Amino acid sequence: MTYDSNNVFAKILRHEIPNKTVYEDDFVLAFYDINPKAKIHVLVIPKGEYINFQDMLDHASQNEIDGFLKGIFATIKALNLTDGYRLVFNTGRDAGQEVPHLHAHILAGEKLSADHL
Ligand code: 5GP
Repeated sequence: MTYDSNNVFAKILRHEIPNKTVYEDDFVLAFYDINPKAKIHVLVIPKGEYINFQDMLDHASQNEIDGFLKGIFATIKALNLTDGYRLVFNTGRDAGQEVPHLHAHILAGEKLSADHL
């Protein structure tokens, strides 16, 4: 599977589609999900072109992987999620991954149940 540079998150990274940014650095962009599944629902995407978690681990530099993980944590700190959060990586068809650019879902802001993603 090759990376589709027309996916919606690639367009967000190119500023072709607006987003509500929570956190940004050299490695990640974090923004509010357009269709929130919890009171707080934020997506964190790497700036590199990776389809899913496996694609990144197979092809990214250690620096990019570190930057992605640290960017997720920086986003969690920016949101001040002292009562907890859920991190989700939907991968592939069985998980219902809609957008083929790696993204971490951060769900928080309420008591989360099994159907929060
Ligand atoms: P997936 O199902 O691929 O794990 O999650 C994709 C997520 O991207 C969904 O929660 C969906 O609401 C969100 N999404 C899709 N298009 C847009 C968009 O244009 N802007 C934002 N902020 N979120 C989007």
